[in-house]
This record gives sequence, C-alpha cells and structure tokens, in this order.
Amino acid sequence: MDIITVENIDIDLIRKKIKNIHLSVYPPDGRVRLAVPEQMDDEAIRSFAVSKLPWINKQRKKFATQERLTEREFVSGESHYFLGTRYLLNVIETTGKQHAELRNDECIDLYVRSGSSVEKREKILSEWYRQNLKEIIPPYIEKWENIMGVKVNDFGIKLMKTRWGTCNIRDKRIWINLELAKKNLRCIEYIVVHEMVHLLEKYHNQIFKNYMNKFLPDWKIIKDELNGLA
Ligand SMILES: [Zn+2]
Repeated sequence: MDIITVENIDIDLIRKKIKNIHLSVYPPDGRVRLAVPEQMDDEAIRSFAVSKLPWINKQRKKFATQERLTEREFVSGESHYFLGTRYLLNVIETTGKQHAELRNDECIDLYVRSGSSVEKREKILSEWYRQNLKEIIPPYIEKWENIMGVKVNDFGIKLMKTRWGTCNIRDKRIWINLELAKKNLRCIEYIVVHEMVHLLEKYHNQIFKNYMNKFLPDWKIIKDELNGLA
C-alpha cells in the first residue's frame, strides 16, 4: 500500500486488478482508502482524488461529529476494550496510587482521586494500556527476529490517528499505536510482523506481500478484522 497526500489528507492507495476506482472513508477516524486499477497512472489518480475532496471532507466531518458524540467519559458502567475483550469500567476513588487493573475477567477497576477530570481518568487508563503493550510486544519481536533474521533496535508506543504502526527502516525502530491494546493478540502480533517485514522490504509491493504470506498466511483476514471489515 502506498500513501498519497492531497491537501493534508493521507490516502491509502491500493493498486488492484479492478476495472473501476473505489474510494472509501472509514470510521472512526476518517481513514481514506483508494483502490485503483493496476495500470492507472499517478497523475490520473491524483486528479481523481482532488475531484473527490469535497465528498471526502464531508465524510470525515460526519465521522468526527459521531466520534465526539460517542466520546468516552471514563465513568463506571462504560464499556472499554482490552485485548479484544469488552470490560465494564469501574471507577474507584483512592488516595493511594492511581492505576487500573483487571478484576474477575469482567471489570477494569480504575483507581483515581476523588473529583478527577475526564482527561486524568483517560490518562491513567492509557498508561495501563501502554504498560500492557510494553510487556506484550517484546516477546513477539524476539520471536519474529529469529524467524525473519532481522533485528529491531527499539520500539515505542504512541497514539496515532490513522496508522496501527510505523517502521523507521534506517534506525530499525518500530512504533505501535497505543489503540492496539484494545485489539486481540493476533491483531497485535500481525502489526508487529507487518512493521518488521518493512525491515526486509520498504514498500507494500508484491515482495512485501510474499513475505506476509510466508510468515502469516492469515494476514489478510486479521487485517480485515483489525479494520472492522470482517
Ligand atoms: Zn506498512
């Protein structure tokens, strides 16, 4: 997959054996995907994207509004996902250490100060997600370093709006989206593998796909699952 940028909007570009162009905008963050016939040239693709900008912007605006309407408040009774499972949030006031923990495979107990703000509660939960990813990811990196014969120098976790992960090939550093903590382990492993395959091949071309087919034959199914297309 390539990315083209039109007026600050990153568009995922997929070349396929198709006759017509397919343009889609996905919730929740308005990711834009453009599938085009294999032989279509870059100039034609770009002018098509530009001609569709009003529609793209309208869709993205709609999702942005929806996202705001369903924004979390981090109060007891809300549903929050962790590793692909839905949990009930249970907010508990404490004067001790503010933190989150799983209880009985049912709840995420969130310990916070009395009167804490939404932002603070969100931050404590995010920190818990981050800590979990920091434990989950290294064994996957080690496993796939051995299989692929590559070396990852460093990895980091950060909140990203439109990507599940990125790879800095020169520094051999991968970045994983904090939001992945909400997805199941096979989705997390798939992203680790995807980013590590970039150490073998920079572009999302056939060579890249051949590696993915070899290492994770189910990768397309997992990808659709991850992007809510399953
Ligand atoms: Zn990639």
